[in-house]
Amino acid sequence: MTIRSGLGFDMHPLVPGRLLVLGGVPVPSELGLGGHSDADVLSHAIGEALLGALALGDLGRHFPDTDPRYRGISSLALLREVMTLVTARGGRLVNVDATVIAQAPRLANLLPEMAKRLADTLGIPLDATSVKAKSPEGLGLLGRKEGMAAMAVVSVEVRGAAEGETSL
Ligand code: MG
Repeated sequence: MTIRSGLGFDMHPLVPGRLLVLGGVPVPSELGLGGHSDADVLSHAIGEALLGALALGDLGRHFPDTDPRYRGISSLALLREVMTLVTARGGRLVNVDATVIAQAPRLANLLPEMAKRLADTLGIPLDATSVKAKSPEGLGLLGRKEGMAAMAVVSVEVRGAAEGETSL
């Protein structure tokens, strides 16, 4: 049995006329994140980390933004598909630690709901699902509210038999 780490990062622009969704939770906001799917930057960072743990490439490789099937899709549905890939390769997600970097709105009171929804989607306990928010303190493009970013780290336990079978 081996423990694999995966690192995920994502960033999307903030635009008018879009619902802001983070960790599958609708967030009251004048601006939403622009993108082909629901542009849930938090779920995307976690998906990237999961794929990275098993060296399976990135989300764009599995869910290309040229594919109309993924237009407006809930990113929790993408995460479920990623978990199917992880499980098929003998992987078991141990824990997630993620941070959203956003100048506004304040996210603190919604973090528990995001963690709950992500834990349910990923099939791991709530106490293994960490979701945090960080202000960029007004600095740079994130501080100017031009976009939001998210980072995630995951640990995935891989049974010995699955080792060496993690490439596509
Ligand atoms: Mg994305």
